[in-house]
Amino acid sequence: MLEALLRFISYTNESEEGVAIRSGGGYRGLPVSRLGGDLAHFLRDDSALAQLAETLAGAPEFALSDVTLLPPVVRPGKILCIGLNYRDHSKESGFEPPTYPAVFARFANSLVAHGDPLVRPDASDLLDYECELAVVIGRGGRHLGEDEALDHVAGYSLFNDGSVRDFQLKSDQWTMGKTFDHTGAFGPELVTRDELPPGARGLRIRTVLNGETMQEANTEDMIFGVARLVAILSEAMTLSPGDVIVTGTPGGVGALRKPQVWLKPGDECTVEIDQLGSLTNPVVQEAPRHLVPTT
Ligand code: ZN
Repeated sequence: MLEALLRFISYTNESEEGVAIRSGGGYRGLPVSRLGGDLAHFLRDDSALAQLAETLAGAPEFALSDVTLLPPVVRPGKILCIGLNYRDHSKESGFEPPTYPAVFARFANSLVAHGDPLVRPDASDLLDYECELAVVIGRGGRHLGEDEALDHVAGYSLFNDGSVRDFQLKSDQWTMGKTFDHTGAFGPELVTRDELPPGARGLRIRTVLNGETMQEANTEDMIFGVARLVAILSEAMTLSPGDVIVTGTPGGVGALRKPQVWLKPGDECTVEIDQLGSLTNPVVQEAPRHLVPTT
């Protein structure tokens, strides 16, 4: 067990990527090249993470404004997303609550950090928000039982599972609408599991769009809790340090409101979860193609 709730970030300065730990009002960090690995590298067991925390405690302090934040896990091997995992969202979507989780994929191309813009693509104006609890795997494993599953969770973070709805629903497979470039906000901190309720249950979760609350629920309302999801997913695949499980969104998504609400350039969207903090992103339009460098 780690001794206290620890909050890690990944960041980049002008020259290189680093990892830092929250310390008072600021962060203390070192470059990945000095640490010998990125944050995912240290998630493999609690003692490696505790050692990282100790090393970083003696590192130089800086303010967040001095660096550019990255998602806490910069290159997750897997980003496994769960659909329809809250009863109210399942109902508003016209589905019966599932008896087995709807699993779809997202890839690292889609990730943005806290403060980075979510990008409304050229291909569609139907970009939607989804507040979600993100689970970050620590010690890897396969065929994990529910009773041991939470020992394989390093910590938790926030996720905005930005969804391009028409592409999501062009077929029965949702992945196409869920992994457009720069549509999935992740961060800002990885908060270690210690001192959080087991499975991060009982935490209030919400989406605030331009100051207005659009979704509000409690992680207690998840149909498949974190331990169950880890057990179910690991029946099929080995979970590895830094893999991310994005656990589904409650009711109130923009597509199912009357009238509908879509994210548009100039918006600011925030996801909040008790004890995990808040994740805020502006929304921009995809750059015209003639302005995108071709190198
Ligand atoms: Zn989602």
